[in-house]
Amino acid sequence: MTDLTRLTAAELASSLASGEISSVEATRAHLDRIAAVDADIHAFLHVSDHALEVAADIDARRTAGEELPELAGVPLAIKDVLVTTDMPSTSGSRILEGFMSPYDATVVARSRAAGLVPLGKTNMDEFAMGSSTEHSAYGPTRNPWDLDRIPGGSGGGSAAAVAAFEAPLALGSDTGGSIRQPAHVTGTVGVKPTYGAVSRYGAIALASSLDQVGPVTRTVLDAGLLHDVIGGHDPHDSTSLAEDWPSFADAAREGARGDVLKGLRVGVIRELPDSGFQSGVSASFRAALARMEAQGAEIVEISAPHFEYGVAAYYLILPAEASSNLAKFDSVRFGLRVDVPGGTVEDVMAATREAGFGDEVKRRIILGTYALSAGYYDAYYGSAQKVRTLIQQDFDQAFAQVDVIATPTAPTTAFRLGEKIDDPLQMYLNDVATIPANLAGVPGISLPSGLSADDGLPVGIQFLAPARQDARLYRVGAALEALLLDEWGGPLLDRAPVLSASTGGRA
Ligand code: GLN
Repeated sequence: MTDLTRLTAAELASSLASGEISSVEATRAHLDRIAAVDADIHAFLHVSDHALEVAADIDARRTAGEELPELAGVPLAIKDVLVTTDMPSTSGSRILEGFMSPYDATVVARSRAAGLVPLGKTNMDEFAMGSSTEHSAYGPTRNPWDLDRIPGGSGGGSAAAVAAFEAPLALGSDTGGSIRQPAHVTGTVGVKPTYGAVSRYGAIALASSLDQVGPVTRTVLDAGLLHDVIGGHDPHDSTSLAEDWPSFADAAREGARGDVLKGLRVGVIRELPDSGFQSGVSASFRAALARMEAQGAEIVEISAPHFEYGVAAYYLILPAEASSNLAKFDSVRFGLRVDVPGGTVEDVMAATREAGFGDEVKRRIILGTYALSAGYYDAYYGSAQKVRTLIQQDFDQAFAQVDVIATPTAPTTAFRLGEKIDDPLQMYLNDVATIPANLAGVPGISLPSGLSADDGLPVGIQFLAPARQDARLYRVGAALEALLLDEWGGPLLDRAPVLSASTGGRA
């Protein structure tokens, strides 16, 4: 029998619809896979103890003849930043250890309504601060391509779960690259939708003007299918767009069969290649562009002079917003409380935050409160907001000339665990190519462009489109994906050395 964990979500959905397999079988296969490999990978912080019951319920409804949504019965992993009523939600932090939410995040509620089967909650950098998942209070996740390397971050758990065939689909969140950069280093697909396209209700806030929830998958079509489930207007989120979105799965299908690359104007940013990109990453990027050009795409050099200030602006705006968002962890309302006998409420609060937050979170709270303080507001936060506007203008000018912008998703392939953990600046520089999209609110996708000739590790290509043009990313992404799959003779992940093709752990 085929190994069900190797099927894409679209393939699982059609086998479920035809009655060839049941959701219980699909779910059990993934739970077995988690049991076999997750001691090595550590993608999950919590595995659901009732996934099989949920699956059995879907099967019963299908057997009774109920018309079910397309993805009904397909398993899903959920980043721990998203609150769930039936599993703890910690956002990777000690301060929320064991926290049970009284409500589901909108994206979780919509996933349940679509019949997706939650498998568990995935590991992440604490409060989504990081690019390696090493800042999780619960220990790092490992990259399925090489267990000594990072799976990216902050959503390394979701990306690793999908790359290691522990889940066909996962939910992530992207504030500065946390969906796209993990996709890049694990050979998977990740989409950061237009700001406001997917509800943030129930996504534990990092920086509210930058955060977006999105899909983490192995194919562009699967990302479109999941985006169709979670997206759309939500009255619970005041920044949610009231927009009639097209089907992103249809856009992906159209891209895979159509001629979308012919005449497509692809912008390449003149200023980016100088920013210290690994040679194997640049080479893979150039090769992917050449493939697109051979299909009739036009590669246009564009200028985005302010992108290089994106990292600096982001690391003022994000800490400022985060310091305010994290003020609610005050020892009274949520999670951890460290008692101080005879102490004041301030003493309890201080002791709780001291014990409950890790170093990176403290660093950013201090930076953020400093940047927002009366004497420094204009010099730091105010200036960063001006840079944000300049970056938005760079995008406007670029999109007057091109349909999409392409970049390598991140400067290097997966680095080694421990390599950058003591050097925050090096960690922050990972986000140089992903941050501008969050600052401007535009959508971005990362999909595998190949393996780096330097080290044999996966490389991602990122496409960016104007706000609200998410469908264009699915069309273009699926078109390139189809070309590359043809060239490779199958998915890149089939070549991941650590993963054996059968259900076992290490090869
Ligand atoms: N690496 C970035 C950071 O540390 C991105 C985080 C994110 O997107 N959540 O802030």
